[in-house]
Amino acid sequence: MYDFDVLVLGSGPGGQKAAIAAAKLGRRVGVIERRHMVGGVCINTGTIPSKTLREAVLYLTGMSQREMYGQSYRLKDDITVADLAARTQHVIGREIDVIRSQLARNRIRLLTGTGVFADEHTVRVVEDSAGRDTKVTAEKIIIAAGTRPARPAAVEFDERTIIDSDGIINLENIPQSLVVVGAGVIGIEYASMFAALGTKVTVVERRERMLEFCDLEIIEALKYHLRDLAVTFRFSEAVASVERHPRGAIAVLESGKRIAADVVMYSAGRQGMADQLSLEAAGLSADNRGRIQVDEHFRTPVSHIYAVGDVIGFPALASTSMEQGRLAAHHACDEPVRAMHQLQPIGIYTIPEISFVGRTEEELTGAGVPFETGIARYRELARGQIIGDSYGMLKLLVSPDDRTLLGVHVFGTGATEIIHIGQAVMGCNGTIDYLVDTVFNYPTLAESYKVAALDAMNKMRHIDRLRD
Ligand SMILES: Cc1cc2nc3c(=O)[nH]c(=O)nc-3n(C[C@H](O)[C@H](O)[C@H](O)COP(=O)(O)OP(=O)(O)OC[C@H]3O[C@@H](n4cnc5c(N)ncnc54)[C@H](O)[C@@H]3O)c2cc1C
Repeated sequence: MYDFDVLVLGSGPGGQKAAIAAAKLGRRVGVIERRHMVGGVCINTGTIPSKTLREAVLYLTGMSQREMYGQSYRLKDDITVADLAARTQHVIGREIDVIRSQLARNRIRLLTGTGVFADEHTVRVVEDSAGRDTKVTAEKIIIAAGTRPARPAAVEFDERTIIDSDGIINLENIPQSLVVVGAGVIGIEYASMFAALGTKVTVVERRERMLEFCDLEIIEALKYHLRDLAVTFRFSEAVASVERHPRGAIAVLESGKRIAADVVMYSAGRQGMADQLSLEAAGLSADNRGRIQVDEHFRTPVSHIYAVGDVIGFPALASTSMEQGRLAAHHACDEPVRAMHQLQPIGIYTIPEISFVGRTEEELTGAGVPFETGIARYRELARGQIIGDSYGMLKLLVSPDDRTLLGVHVFGTGATEIIHIGQAVMGCNGTIDYLVDTVFNYPTLAESYKVAALDAMNKMRHIDRLRD
């Protein structure tokens, strides 16, 4: 008899939801997690700290109130790291407490240490600091070990002037100048937060553009806003080296340009943690980015071992990791499972925020799929005026053939919330007729759906009229 029916490695979103789902199905479940990492990267260094920091920045800088009270409006003049950290630490503490309580309530045993495979049913739980090395066995194992920031070998990180995205929440001061290397989601989110704090930010990105999976018009709007906050973009450029000096660093670009900054933050991808699990002992292997290959049921080539979350790669979001964890646990417990829904929203918590679901104009054009656009601007909505958001917009991409939604793209306040209206309509194969005919609360940002649907409808009607 095994010690556990289901053993989970890692307590991030994927591991938590896998463990709870298996426990709800009556299985004996254990979770292995390293000390001080309950809740995973998500709670301790990633999603939650960064989103709380963003909220603190918005509140303390008074940014979203400046349309009303003038450009000089600030809640606090000298914002310190302590101001920002207080809120972050508070939320992290509460979230860890919630997770611990959920695990306890579901009688899930939390084993402190690093899990390392001894064989395909046995995992060593190693805690060097306590001099402990024990073994546990399980019938089914779910790996949810996540990732760590990838660090280029040639760069000397010192956790002070040259840092990665984990280091940003431990900075001692708000830098006056910051170089962000890599314009991916994490890099741009932090670039926008520090720009809002008044830091002079330079973003260096090897590619010609950023966030190319997003709608081009919306990325142009974001770039305009960030430039307005004194962000400089260096596209098609790469950092060749970083010189460390007593009072800061100099990023030397391959083109020969030099950029001086208090801090250089690398945000250049992430490395899967599978390379530290002794996978070979279980007959498994990881790719060179530390990721594990799985099938559509999240099963590895060893059929009783599953892997979920960032450790299996794209899309590497907390939102999708949770659902993967639940589905893997159900499959492992022989419970009927449906495939993960194809339609997944993307949320990017820049200032202003972005969210979308479905396809972009470029994708549709590339695939030869005709579409009509329907646009609503927040400044034309009563709620937009009330909250002082004059730049926000919602764009619907509509099929002229059957009026179904092909994509929804939102920029501005509440984007990551209101996207779910579009997602629900798309998920139920709804048409814009529903959005035109339905009544929305007034004044809301949700009303933008009706305005945009009417806009698309009017454009399509115009074409029909000319053809009659
Ligand atoms: C700065 C930042 C911002 C982000 N913002 C968002 C966002 O806004 N929205 C969103 O959806 N996603 C966001 N993400 C991504 C999100 O954090 C991840 O997708 C999510 O945390 C992945 O969950 P996971 O379950 O795979 O594991 P993780 O959260 O990565 O946790 C894995 C856990 O496994 C543990 N572990 C590793 N190896 C072992 C071992 N051998 N034994 C025991 N335990 C082990 C680790 O200690 C860790 O606690 C962000 C990420 C970062 C870095």
